[in-house]
Amino acid sequence: MSFDPGPDLIGVVPVSTGCTGDCTYCITRLARGALKSHDVTSIEKRFRCLLERGAKEIRVTSQDSASYGLDAGTSLIELMRTMDSHSGDHRIRLGMMNPDTAEPIFDELLDIMEGSHFYRFLHLPLQSGSDRILEKMNRRYTAGDWMELVERARRRIPEITISTDVITGFPGECEEDFQDTVKALERAEPDILNITRFSSRPGTEAHGMKDRIHSRTSKSRSSALTRIHEKISGERNQKYVGLATKALVLEKGKNHTVTGRTDSYKVVVLEDDPGMVLGTWVDVEITAASGVYLKGIRIQ
Ligand code: SF4
Repeated sequence: MSFDPGPDLIGVVPVSTGCTGDCTYCITRLARGALKSHDVTSIEKRFRCLLERGAKEIRVTSQDSASYGLDAGTSLIELMRTMDSHSGDHRIRLGMMNPDTAEPIFDELLDIMEGSHFYRFLHLPLQSGSDRILEKMNRRYTAGDWMELVERARRRIPEITISTDVITGFPGECEEDFQDTVKALERAEPDILNITRFSSRPGTEAHGMKDRIHSRTSKSRSSALTRIHEKISGERNQKYVGLATKALVLEKGKNHTVTGRTDSYKVVVLEDDPGMVLGTWVDVEITAASGVYLKGIRIQ
């Protein structure tokens, strides 16, 4: 499904370039280099400017949001507090954060997320459920560390949306490693799953690794995960049917619809009506759900 964004309703605030990681498959690291955080003042200026121009959803972007400030004597928590001090009915979406850099700030991060301008949304990449493969990727956390963060987040904020990424067919990924990934996903039940089939990038360490996995195997593992996740996300979204909630309407959709986001960053598709104003919150009742979005009707 594709939607037209409303005028200036969605703004992007890049907060850093590079990262503190050294993942063996990553070409971005080679292109972007070490972490370089932008200063809080210039970030805040852009943030304020977007709000003044009418933005209602602000996306904080970087290679790894949780590492923000580690090179500059500050932290993502400081930045979140600064952003949170601006009043308004906008919402901020934090970008991807790696489990190893998220862990030290995780409790404070959830504290702020619980009652604030931040969507209840976390993008925590897993990449593999096998510790052996994670080590080969040089990911600096275990599958258990990742699971612990997901479960801690869900205990604190049950409705939080968890997004994650996995790579299939990393060199040396045997059936047992793949099944570890399946088990991790079945236990954690992420709402959003981004699957990438491993592709070797010249210049990276993984490019020279032996035990290449055949593209057919990589593809069939990717398809299997897609099917497993469709079931997980479908069942999770089904729980919203019949519930009343609020949605921030942001985009015009196809066939006289608009789309909005709930506080936990779920997509809600609504029928457009003459009173519908993009950039405002509306009361909705959820009437149907798929694994990708919720459908609702506006409660006047
Ligand atoms: S995958 Fe992410 S954390 Fe790892 S090196 Fe690349 S940009 Fe850095």
